Amino acid sequence: MAATGLTVAAILVAAGSGQRLNAGVPKAFCVVRGRTLLEHAHERFAGHPSIRDVIVVAPAERLDAARALTGSTVVAGGATRQVSVAAGMAVLDPDVTAVLVHDVARAFAPVAVIDRVVAALCDGADAVIPVRPVTDTIKRVDDARRVMHTVDRSTLVAVQTPQGFRRRVLEAAHRAAPEAEATDDAGLVEATGGTVVVVDGADESFKITRPWDLVLAEAVAAGERP
Ligand code: C5P
Repeated sequence: MAATGLTVAAILVAAGSGQRLNAGVPKAFCVVRGRTLLEHAHERFAGHPSIRDVIVVAPAERLDAARALTGSTVVAGGATRQVSVAAGMAVLDPDVTAVLVHDVARAFAPVAVIDRVVAALCDGADAVIPVRPVTDTIKRVDDARRVMHTVDRSTLVAVQTPQGFRRRVLEAAHRAAPEAEATDDAGLVEATGGTVVVVDGADESFKITRPWDLVLAEAVAAGERP
């Protein structure tokens, strides 16, 4: 699927420490079925016909390892996810017009989701996020761990990556709030009054955060490569 009229780059953020995973290595370097999460995530983007450039944002002490594993441009991340995304944006080629930002922690995001995000950008969207319905009941609690109320989940969605942006929209959003420590880039676009549209995400795009998630990752990887 070619991205008509757009020159697309993907920024893969992999500079997190993975403390909650407790694996002894940065999360992106955890091995699942013989390959690092970085390799699993990278192959989806590097081989995609709509994506021209792939930039990996890695922990400063793992730059050579990330280069060896991916063969892509690799830059050092920062203390927060937002700083890491900005480090990737800083090395975009001048002619790039659209950017996908992806958490390597979502190492098994299906190519179909990338396709949907790119298609929405091609249709004219400024910012696109893949989402899933919320299946748990959600309640707001106070500091004393008492329930304040139940939130109507019918209007809630859980947000995934890759998130897609027109380059100028993403850059303007980061410029407007360089220290916001947003947990996703669309949040910065929303804060500047921009419109963010949603497409369907996928169960396989779950974020690998805690040890239990690695059990699921093994199962997903096994299904991909029987
Ligand atoms: O910490 P969390 O799981 O929310 O991180 C989401 C993604 O952002 C991960 O792929 C992680 O490697 C990346 N990240 C980063 N730089 C940071 C923190 C997180 O690249 N300082």
